[in-house]
Amino acid sequence: MDKDTLLATLGCAPEDHRGVVNIPVYRGSTILFPTLADFDKAESGTWPHSVYGRYGTRTTEELEASIAAIEGADYAIVLSSGMNAIATALMAFLKSGDHLLMTDNTYGPCRRFCDNELKRFGVETTYYDPTIGAGIAALIKDNTRVVYTESPGSLTFEMQDIPAIAKAAHEKGCIVISDNTWGTPYYMRPFELGIDVSIHSATKYISGHSDLLMGTISCKKEHYAQLLRTFRHCGGNPSADSCYLAQRGLRTMGVRLKQHYANGLKMAAWLKSHPSVEAVLHPALPGAPGHELWKRDFQGACGLFSFVLKDAVPREALARMMDNLVYYGMGYSWGGFESLLIPIAPKKIRTASEWKYTGQALRIHVGLENIDELIADLERGLERLRG
Ligand SMILES: *Cc1c(COP(=O)(O)O)cnc(C)c1O
Repeated sequence: MDKDTLLATLGCAPEDHRGVVNIPVYRGSTILFPTLADFDKAESGTWPHSVYGRYGTRTTEELEASIAAIEGADYAIVLSSGMNAIATALMAFLKSGDHLLMTDNTYGPCRRFCDNELKRFGVETTYYDPTIGAGIAALIKDNTRVVYTESPGSLTFEMQDIPAIAKAAHEKGCIVISDNTWGTPYYMRPFELGIDVSIHSATKYISGHSDLLMGTISCKKEHYAQLLRTFRHCGGNPSADSCYLAQRGLRTMGVRLKQHYANGLKMAAWLKSHPSVEAVLHPALPGAPGHELWKRDFQGACGLFSFVLKDAVPREALARMMDNLVYYGMGYSWGGFESLLIPIAPKKIRTASEWKYTGQALRIHVGLENIDELIADLERGLERLRG
């Protein structure tokens, strides 16, 4: 089945719910077993459904099955946030004395998790240049257990050669975990690229409406038991209401993404031709860094990318630009229907690869608004920079 058909048909069971099209919100903590024999099944792990609300309800299970189907995974787990998905996946496969190879452009809080929490538990992290490709082999040590990728990084948008990295990692017995939030379950097939464990912040395009937090972990059969065990021991389940909203977000994810993709590319092309702009870091823009890898490995692009101005900008000038934009919000996260713009300073948060630009960098999320109005608003903003 095509992804569009999957999105429109997954997670429906009208026959079980008096004809209601969508799976209802099953709110539940206690789950009752009709007989002692059934209770004993729960105790021995042979009850066929969830035995407690923390392990999910039907609302959760349908969403997990939907995510797995769209990504081409055997199983998916949904969690309370994207960050929880990252922490859970790393904890599932790492133990004291292990070594982790982490891409230098990783999501900031993931970096802080490695440098603070994993370190306390005796896991050593080495950051690597995201564009290292097959060269990762030289960094793999005897105790390296996980190679973690994020392609493209969600601030600086370096594309990684995932198949090359995965090949080298697998030759040394490592597991490849990848944050695929930018690629989305719609525009990327992680398991065909060699990824073992695929993570999404469902807070972004799966939700699509800036009104919930959720993470997903998808995997093949051989990694599911360990992931499920760690997930259950950490207790990071999402609410049934969030699962319902995420399933509803999936219904329109394809159509929303098509507009984010088109709007984003139009914005990127306009910025590239703007005299104040030094570089546009959008992998789907022809000529941009990583474009060839994007073309090879992805089926589309979302609305998030960065651009770098030719000059460094005094904070007052930046405030003149940012504070008077009409359509762009200034805030963390992305993947909702609305446009966002934030200044970024990547130089401060990397140790293994160089940020070569000296001009002011900004990250833009191109939303579903009319693209000509978005461009006109940003054009006025860039004019205000000059005072
Ligand atoms: C937002 C984000 C996360 C974390 O997701 P939350 O749902 O906010 O916890 C992880 N990775 C990337 C790339 C993100 O953009």
